[in-house]
Amino acid sequence: MNNSASKFDYNVVIIGGGPGGYVCAIRLAQLGFKVACVEKRKNLGGTCLNVGCIPSKAMLEISHKFHDAQHNFAKLGIIANKPEIDVKKLVDNKNEIIAGLTAGISSLFKKNKVSHIIGSGKFIDKNQLEVTDENGSKQKISAEKFVIATGSEVTKLPNVEIDEKVIVSSTGALEFEKVPQKMIVIGAGVIGLELGSVWSRLGSQVEVVEFLDKITPTNDNEISKNFQRILEKQGLKFRLSTKVLGVKKDKKGAIVEVEAVQGGAKETLLADVVLVAIGRKPNTENLGLENVGIKTNARGFIENNHLKTNVDNIYVVGDVTTGPMLAHKAEDEGIAVAEIIGNQAGHVNYDVIPNVIYTYPEVASVGKTEEELKAQNIAYKSGKFMMMANSRARATYDEQGLVKILSCAKTDRILGAHIIAREAGNMIHEIVVAMEFGGSAEDIARTCHAHPTYNEAIKESALALDKRAIHS
Ligand SMILES: Cc1cc2nc3c(=O)[nH]c(=O)nc-3n(C[C@H](O)[C@H](O)[C@H](O)COP(=O)(O)OP(=O)(O)OC[C@H]3O[C@@H](n4cnc5c(N)ncnc54)[C@H](O)[C@@H]3O)c2cc1C
Repeated sequence: MNNSASKFDYNVVIIGGGPGGYVCAIRLAQLGFKVACVEKRKNLGGTCLNVGCIPSKAMLEISHKFHDAQHNFAKLGIIANKPEIDVKKLVDNKNEIIAGLTAGISSLFKKNKVSHIIGSGKFIDKNQLEVTDENGSKQKISAEKFVIATGSEVTKLPNVEIDEKVIVSSTGALEFEKVPQKMIVIGAGVIGLELGSVWSRLGSQVEVVEFLDKITPTNDNEISKNFQRILEKQGLKFRLSTKVLGVKKDKKGAIVEVEAVQGGAKETLLADVVLVAIGRKPNTENLGLENVGIKTNARGFIENNHLKTNVDNIYVVGDVTTGPMLAHKAEDEGIAVAEIIGNQAGHVNYDVIPNVIYTYPEVASVGKTEEELKAQNIAYKSGKFMMMANSRARATYDEQGLVKILSCAKTDRILGAHIIAREAGNMIHEIVVAMEFGGSAEDIARTCHAHPTYNEAIKESALALDKRAIHS
């Protein structure tokens, strides 16, 4: 496949070294193409490895252990001296994990002979890219095909300046030097709740302000309500249906001005730090899209047709294009594009992309919510099983949560599943695989599940669809 006689420097150049870009580069190299990945950060791995999925999960894990030691060990009969948190060590550990993983991707690039070009890429025309490094030096590289994988960046609130110390984005919330006494999180989405949980477990009073009337707005309503109750028990406070009018720094920290969405009196909230977590926006600035004739849609995303942009040799994957902004969606698109370029049948099934919130307990979902099924007039059955009745969950004191499976009323084909449980993020994959195979709830109900496992709650939930759960 490697066309050494090509008139271009590379067969394919990928712009962006996040999960969409680096995975695409490796798969293309496996298929025999001469590939380069242009990434403006020195480290590969993109948002996900550097300031996203991995650092947040490292901090969730460490803070969960700390909280457990502080609040639950005694109940289990473990007598330990009063644990304390060393925030610097926690952040250092997180950085060490990132360094190890990003170095791992560099090694994978070497192993697969992918060239890593450090610098910012900008299209000159549809076959040429100008790459500018941090010192301002420029080089031109040419390729037969390009893949845009430039990801996303934090969405800012109008007139609110993020200094990453007092008013922070998710990036600053991974780097606090001490535990803030009071933290306000703007936005009750995944990132706000994960990072709010981290600092709440470490001792902050966390208050979450959300414009909509529910937390994690894309989740099934029943799950969102249950999840909110669980987080409230953990000490997080919520102000839903509340609009943020402004955020200002003052000598002691920050002042957040809010108002109920329906209107009413303005209120002022004080905090040591404010996390702005209202979402992310696609990264398309200074990419030279105008030089190749690629337009973005009203929300700034580059649209695609089977991952191809409107320019026939330029593809797009990950957060910068439409679809859920998730690392695994970006990776799957990266692989699909590589295989499409390699004349194989690259494909992503957007109906079966799991979504996980890595709080304690975790919240995981795939497929349709009850609200979506109702809106689409799809007749469905619902089977539910509480983790309280799962013997493994009882044995490990992880009884909070439930499993809910939704299946087609006529065919029993699984249409969606929603889980709150300690290991919901792992458990959901049983359903994901079943859905990929077009499986029914009955298929799950008839599958032997090891005992005692959290996944037995999935089997029971499938049985509950037919009112024949054994343990409830
Ligand atoms: C705090 C946080 C937690 C998250 N947790 C999860 C999680 O648990 N699970 C999950 O699935 N997702 C999570 N996400 C989302 C996930 O990080 C993104 O969906 C994922 O990184 C998208 O991958 P990508 O390859 O499209 O883009 P990115 O990872 O954003 O990578 C794009 C890369 O392109 C580079 N770039 C941009 N423009 C240029 C240019 N012109 N030239 C050269 N390089 C350029 C950027 O420097 C960046 O490294 C989280 C995000 C955040 C912020």
